[in-house]
Amino acid sequence: MAVIKVMDELLANKIAAGEVVERCASVVKELVENSIDAGAKEIKVLLQDAGTREIKVIDDGNGMDEDDAILAFSRHATSKITDEDDLYRLCTLGFRGEALASIAAVSKVDLKTCAGDIGTHVIINGGKIIKVSKGDARRGTIISVSELFYNTPARLKHMKSLYTELSSITDYMNKLSLSHPKIRFVLQNNDNVILRTDGSGNTLKVIQSIYGNDVTRKMVPVSAENDDYEITGYISLPEVHRSSRNNMVTIVNGRVVRNIEINKTINDAYHSYKPDNRYPITILNITVDPSVIDVNIHPTKMDIKFSKMDTLLDLISNMVISKISNRELIPKAEIKTEIKDEIKKKPKYVEQYIKLDSKGSSIEQIELPEEEIIINSDLDIDLVSDDEPYKAEEKLMPEMYPVGLVHGTYIILENEKGMYLMDLHAAKERCNYERFKEAMGKPNIASTALLFPVTIELSNDDYIILKQHLNLLTDLKFKIEEFGVNSIIVKEHPTWLPTNNLEDSVRTIIDVIIREKEFSIEKFNEKVATMMSCKHAVRANTHLTIEDMRDLVEDLRNCKNPFNCPHGRPTTIFYSNYDLEKLFKRSGFDTKK
Ligand code: ZN
Ligand code: ZN
Repeated sequence: MAVIKVMDELLANKIAAGEVVERCASVVKELVENSIDAGAKEIKVLLQDAGTREIKVIDDGNGMDEDDAILAFSRHATSKITDEDDLYRLCTLGFRGEALASIAAVSKVDLKTCAGDIGTHVIINGGKIIKVSKGDARRGTIISVSELFYNTPARLKHMKSLYTELSSITDYMNKLSLSHPKIRFVLQNNDNVILRTDGSGNTLKVIQSIYGNDVTRKMVPVSAENDDYEITGYISLPEVHRSSRNNMVTIVNGRVVRNIEINKTINDAYHSYKPDNRYPITILNITVDPSVIDVNIHPTKMDIKFSKMDTLLDLISNMVISKISNRELIPKAEIKTEIKDEIKKKPKYVEQYIKLDSKGSSIEQIELPEEEIIINSDLDIDLVSDDEPYKAEEKLMPEMYPVGLVHGTYIILENEKGMYLMDLHAAKERCNYERFKEAMGKPNIASTALLFPVTIELSNDDYIILKQHLNLLTDLKFKIEEFGVNSIIVKEHPTWLPTNNLEDSVRTIIDVIIREKEFSIEKFNEKVATMMSCKHAVRANTHLTIEDMRDLVEDLRNCKNPFNCPHGRPTTIFYSNYDLEKLFKRSGFDTKK
């Protein structure tokens, strides 16, 4: 009966496959989610050529009996949607129960499953059941999907490169393992292990499996709660950042979701601690009563809406800010040491890269970036210390004493812990920035009248934009009047603005007005403070006396964030005594030699 049903629906399945099974990653996703639903504690995903040749998923969950095994490939086997909670299955594409049928329609499937004593073995080619027989009595399910799209060559052409397929599968498995730390996952491509987690429930160990020891060492635990939300997780120190938001993972009630506002809030909380166009690594577990979540979400985007969004964003923002603004954040200089441990040697991971073009396939070799390689070891690394927050009267930056200046650009400093290098420009920029911002934020900004007013001529189109937003300048306590064709005259300027090269400063501010598309006063002030702080910071090749340097360091130590320039670059880098010894090969030797 079930068999006939599958046959009848062959065509429908092929059509559905076009919508549902677009990539190897969607097949992996469907199979792995089935394993999770079956209560598996261990799930192995074994790929051949990034899944284009074969995707095999082995689990130790509750297998199926023969009838279920056959029915699983029926298009309307929607048995899985059983309760309201399934509406909130954000990870699914809304086709649960149909996906297996769709996958089977465009590939060769070999299923071995066992629920009790008797195992079942089903072979399906292009949606046709070829063979059903008794199988091994091993508890769990082994499903192999091979030659995906072999019978729909038009589809096959659209498959991305092996590298793209593999990276999206890896990304999916990474997130899944973060949201299911109690399941042991293995992801393997050909003979290379890409991800292996231990199922211990320790999120930090999963982070280690994905990102390696260096990043894990720089992850800080966070937690916060209010009446509706409870948050736990890890965020990276500001010195760790990546080019994409993809490493900002939000898990709501155990499921990975995507929310632009949450990501933006986290990134804003890091503002000026890192460059704005780089993103931290964060894993936040949010627990919330499901009734607070809007289930009216776009099924394919994993996007989620919360009814009390503002309180959630505030909670996240305060949590992140309090965690990063209360600690010493001087990055340590990266000292590469020879790795003695054989296990730590990273294998050269060469992946075959097949270009699937209309003429057939050609093979190229590419090397995956080192980041993709995972070395697993016990979590025996020294994590970032998460002691008591600093007291208000304590300075975040330790005392340090200047010894000299390199190329008029870098200050060398020392204290009992080691040596510091400080970027003169970045340090000065930070001091200016905090001073300007404070002055600009005062309700009554003082202004100074100019003995010789400055006239500024603009192009006609710039002049039109400026005239629309002249209030921004008056709010900053400039006194400005129109002066002839496309010109303005500046009669007073805010006192905080340095007077050397005033015209240039005013032009800089006008540029911000002209280039900025959306105006919020905060953003405008922020931009102006950042631009002006850079303009008036010391340029390279400046001569400074030790006394000048001492003053600068004191100024910097008084800043709210002495560790970064307003653009998020580091002001200071630390070389510990130990690192210096290592650099000069003094450690472990007789240091007197
Ligand atoms: Zn600058
Ligand atoms: Zn800067």
